[in-house]
Amino acid sequence: MADGGQEQGDNPREAQGDDPGISAVNLALLTGWIREFARVIAENAQHLTDLDAAIGDADHGINMNRGMTAVLGALDEGGAADMSALCKQVGMTLVKSVGGASGPLYGTFFLRMAGALGATDTVDAAEFAKALRAGVEGVVQRGRAEAGDKTMFDALTPALDALDTALASGGGLATALADATLAAEKGRDATESMVARKGRASYLGQRSVGHADPGATSAAMLIAAAASAFATGG
Ligand code: ADP
Ligand code: MG
Repeated sequence: MADGGQEQGDNPREAQGDDPGISAVNLALLTGWIREFARVIAENAQHLTDLDAAIGDADHGINMNRGMTAVLGALDEGGAADMSALCKQVGMTLVKSVGGASGPLYGTFFLRMAGALGATDTVDAAEFAKALRAGVEGVVQRGRAEAGDKTMFDALTPALDALDTALASGGGLATALADATLAAEKGRDATESMVARKGRASYLGQRSVGHADPGATSAAMLIAAAASAFATGG
C-alpha cells in the first residue's frame, strides 16, 4: 500500500488522512466483486476440494466452481438493473446450481443482501456493510452456525466486525475491506484447531481438528475478492 496510513497534515488534499479510495458501491463494483470471486474460486477449486477431502466429501471446490460458473453465465445474460436484482440473481443461481450445503448457504447470503440493498444503483459504505451483515444473518438462520463451530461463519463474522470497526473509526471502504480480509483470513486459520460442530465435518468429531474448514476458506476468498475488486474499481 503506497500511501496508506501516512500523516500528511499540511497538505490540504490529504487532510484528516482521507481514504483516497471509493466511498460508495455501485452496480458495476458489485458486479466486479462477483466476477472476481468467480475467478478466485475457479483458480482455487482444487485447493477447496482438497480441504473438503480431509474433513468432508471432497466436493467444496467443485460445488463452488459449478455455482460461480453458472453465476457468470447469468451475469452475461444481463437483466439485473439494480444492486438488489443482481444479488438476487446470484443467490437464486447458487441455490439452483449447487447441490451441497454451501449452495443454499451462499445463496441465502446473496438473497439476504438483495433484501437489504433494495432497488438502488449506489449505496454508501455503511449500507454496504449492513447488507453484508444481513447476508451473514441469513446464513445463521439457515445453518444455525455459532462462533467456533468450524464453518464459513468463523471467517465471515470476524471480517464484518473488522469492517464495521474500520468504518466507524473513519476509514474508507477500501481500507476497511483490507482489514476485513485480514480478519477473515485469521478466522479461516483459526478453524484449523476447531472441532467441527456443523455440516459433514461434524461427523468426524475430534478428527476434524488439524484441517482448515473449506467453507471458511472460500468465505475468506469472498471478502478478499471484494477488497481487490473495489481497490482496482475505485
Ligand atoms: P457439503 O458439506 O454438502 O458437501 P460443501 O462441501 O460444498 O457442502 O460445503 C461445506 C462447507 O459448508 C463447510 O466447510 C462449512 O463451512 C459450510 N457449512 C456446512 N454446514 C454449515 C452450517 N450449518 N452453517 C454454516 N456453514 C456450514
Ligand atoms: Mg462437501
